[in-house]
Amino acid sequence: MILGRHFYLGQAASYSFGDVVRHLFTIGLARNLDALKRYLVQRYKGEEAILCKNGRSGLSLALKAYFEPGDIVIVNGFTCYAVYEAVVSAGLKPLFVDISRDDLNFNIDMLVKGMKSVNSRHARGIIIQNSLGNPVDVKAVEKFAKEHGLTIIEDLAHCTGVKYADGRECGTVGAAAAFSFGKDKTIDTISGGAVVFREKVLHEVEAPEKAPRVPDHLRARFYPLFGMICRGLSYVHLGGFLMQGLVKIHWVEKSADNRLDLKRRISKFEAKLALEQFKHLKRSGEAPIREFAFVEDRDEVLKELAKAGYYFDGLWYKQPVSPERYYKKVHFPEKECPNSVFVAKHIVNFPTYYARSDLKVAREIVRKHAVKEGNE
Ligand SMILES: *Cc1c(COP(=O)(O)O)cnc(C)c1O
Repeated sequence: MILGRHFYLGQAASYSFGDVVRHLFTIGLARNLDALKRYLVQRYKGEEAILCKNGRSGLSLALKAYFEPGDIVIVNGFTCYAVYEAVVSAGLKPLFVDISRDDLNFNIDMLVKGMKSVNSRHARGIIIQNSLGNPVDVKAVEKFAKEHGLTIIEDLAHCTGVKYADGRECGTVGAAAAFSFGKDKTIDTISGGAVVFREKVLHEVEAPEKAPRVPDHLRARFYPLFGMICRGLSYVHLGGFLMQGLVKIHWVEKSADNRLDLKRRISKFEAKLALEQFKHLKRSGEAPIREFAFVEDRDEVLKELAKAGYYFDGLWYKQPVSPERYYKKVHFPEKECPNSVFVAKHIVNFPTYYARSDLKVAREIVRKHAVKEGNE
């Protein structure tokens, strides 16, 4: 096999040869959409599921269904621009709350502090993210939410298949769960998303009915193939250039640029692939989790990793709200969220496309540069 493990170096490395073939040739039917919806409703004990163009559109629908414009919603202070976009698109105000360095999630102390900084009467919701697959202390958050009259929305982009400490599966706790099937997520069909409504909604929302635009559909079909070609070319140092070129001519879209769109749904073939992936997902909480560590000089570490043959691009996240090119728009409260700022500056996390045994050298490199206890 030319597509052995070492072939995983480089661009779009999460996609195997099998994925390339599946993406090019899977034929999706209307019944695949229905089957995915039914599966989501059943697995997540919901009332209804809606399939969307991407995760942020699903999250936006969840927020529109349960909140009024102007409401404040608590957001993890270490997140993706997609979440901010969803919050703002629903007419809501994000309250970013600082995170713990242990699990990259807000905890009760930080929630209490965050709540004091706003007129808490307007705070109506809280988005649980379970960063990089690390579950939040859900019992404590539920209690806090109850005390403050907050509706919980679960964002499953990082934690599909993960379980909380009390054994419940992520996505079975909040009023709604939003899913992303975007690149490098646990369920990954290149694009796509969904929302499951578990409790009665305040406002009915309309399910997107239109098929994806042709370019979006084709981009999802061809991305694994383009990735494979770029990986091949990376041996002659051309993979990166080709990928940049493909982005430039819009044949590949960067994840963060995948626009929120409440009118269009997922492609049928992606719904079919998403369902297949869900069925392979273990219920036992063994779903992939990105391991992380904090290093003094990240650029130096990334250089050493590259020298040792590792491809560690696309870290989650280099800014408290990533990616960098959107960060300024967010007006992130850095002063109130020192841990978020620290984490974004020092984090490295391990891509899931390497086998654990292949990461031995990478771990040594990271360990050598680890942030010393007490250093800031
Ligand atoms: C990726 C992501 C989403 C949704 O992303 P889409 O690109 O819109 O599918 C939502 N929340 C978090 C935390 C994410 O990382």
